[in-house]
Amino acid sequence: MMGPMRPVIIAGNWKMHTTPADAGSLATALADATAQAAVVRVICPPFVALAAVRDALAGRDVAVGAQNVHHEAAGAYTGEVAAAMLAGLATWAIVGHSERRRDAGETDAQIGQKLRRCLEAGLRPILCVGEGLEDRDAGRADAVVRDQLDGAWASFAAVSPGGSGHGTGLASRLVVAYEPVWAIGTGRTARGADAAAIARVIRATLIGWGWPRTAAEAVPVLYGGSVTSATIDAFMAEPELDGALVGGASLKVEEMAGIVARAALTAHARAATS
Ligand code: PEP
Repeated sequence: MMGPMRPVIIAGNWKMHTTPADAGSLATALADATAQAAVVRVICPPFVALAAVRDALAGRDVAVGAQNVHHEAAGAYTGEVAAAMLAGLATWAIVGHSERRRDAGETDAQIGQKLRRCLEAGLRPILCVGEGLEDRDAGRADAVVRDQLDGAWASFAAVSPGGSGHGTGLASRLVVAYEPVWAIGTGRTARGADAAAIARVIRATLIGWGWPRTAAEAVPVLYGGSVTSATIDAFMAEPELDGALVGGASLKVEEMAGIVARAALTAHARAATS
């Protein structure tokens, strides 16, 4: 066996697309076209479509995720959504997506607080990290990702009852998505080997926090950035990677059918060798 048996996860981030009127039928079509028991499937629609997607997916083995949560538990934050408000609507949440870091100025400190809020609300966080093109070209990708993780961890630990101890509940729920900014929505993907190298950096960073190696190795790491049915194989071929966070292609039924089918091949192959 090569390592711990991690789930293969394909999560779709619908971004600012769909309405409550059309989200349910898209979710149903996606669920039916991607029915592969070996793959954990998650759909992250806009907040306003969460209820429609939840209802449409009833009885189907697809989880619903939010695209964000606020870093505070409640308060005077007009237009924002607290993690606790998602009870009954979502069981997963994306945090720290690069579009929110860019457009909403989210900081690593806030992202660490969001992780805390997710745990309090019983949500499974998908923590997004990734470098910009300039940092990739300058050979700083590893350092950027490490800094993003360390910044989030420091702030998570500061607001967690368990402090920086390993027993804060994060280890068993955390999923990390490596999403190089230059690959998101650009049609350009990372190389599988480069994404795998970052996955090693991610797990080494968790170990650097004092997490036991087994806990760090049990954390799924996804790749995100222009994943399609034509590019998913390069990532699933890397043992360090456990699936994908898919943006644009997650709105296309045929694309998702291909992505999940290919991910399922890997899931079966890994199960057979474990
Ligand atoms: C994303 O939104 O997380 C993403 C990876 O987008 P895309 O697949 O469109 O690059």
